[in-house]
Amino acid sequence: MRIIKKIAPLRKALEGPRRKGKAIGFVPTMGALHEGHLSLVRRARRENDVCVVSIFVNPIQFDPREDLKRYPRDLKKDSRLLAGLCDVLFVPDTFQMYPPGFSVFVEVKGLSDVLCGASRKGHFAGVTTVMAKLLNIVAPDRIYFGQKDVQQAAIIQKMISDLNFPVEVSVLPIVREKDGLAMSSRNIHLSPEERREAVVLFQALKSAERMVGAGVRDAARIKSALSDFISRPASARVEYIEIVDRANLVPLKTIEKDVLLLLAVRIGKTRLIDNTVLKVK
Ligand code: AMP
Repeated sequence: MRIIKKIAPLRKALEGPRRKGKAIGFVPTMGALHEGHLSLVRRARRENDVCVVSIFVNPIQFDPREDLKRYPRDLKKDSRLLAGLCDVLFVPDTFQMYPPGFSVFVEVKGLSDVLCGASRKGHFAGVTTVMAKLLNIVAPDRIYFGQKDVQQAAIIQKMISDLNFPVEVSVLPIVREKDGLAMSSRNIHLSPEERREAVVLFQALKSAERMVGAGVRDAARIKSALSDFISRPASARVEYIEIVDRANLVPLKTIEKDVLLLLAVRIGKTRLIDNTVLKVK
């Protein structure tokens, strides 16, 4: 695995394989890697000739700045995990990505203002801007995202489609801990007690699946039951519980087809998200 820090050598490294018609698979990440990330890397490796992973903690998608400072970073461990799995690890610094005078932002309207976008103003514009840059730098044939950040995946897919980026997108299932907690780089911030209580998100998703399985179709009833359930552990504060159309993330009152249930919950100071598809038989 080659570790490359600058844009020009990264482009050069991919020039040869591209000219020979090799397929390039790309997994963008912010590092502090876990099995969720590695599931994407393994898929990218399996489906392409060259596998590229990027690690870049993108400052323009963080607000407040505290969260950026607190974001876990461990490049040594990440490189160890990726060795043998990917061919090129791209780790640009902030100066490479945003040199002085940088002034262009890419924004997907509508989808970026709801759910996580409602409480994290400007967050998704930061995500789509860095993603547009990474797509131009790496120019992959295929790019891989996790269902864990389903709104982010939907927004990036809209950007890719509206701006005609020639890349195929795959969104892969959420990888979970044994007790069901979705793997996340932020989980390491949880105290032992918060870690135990954090399983409430997964349990809430499961109880919603059971309600829909038992014939409940009223979204408000499900959301209210989940709100009560999630509020039980002392450390948990609901930010949102939404049931939305899978295609456009518009909130629904009645469940008539397969829909998406999304949660954002603070466990102590740590903000966690999770989601599931509620299936109507
Ligand atoms: P991040 O490093 O948090 O920006 O995540 C990089 C990619 O990994 C994104 O596409 C995430 O959706 C994906 N990802 C993060 N956590 C998981 C997980 N538990 N299961 C599957 N994919 C994940």
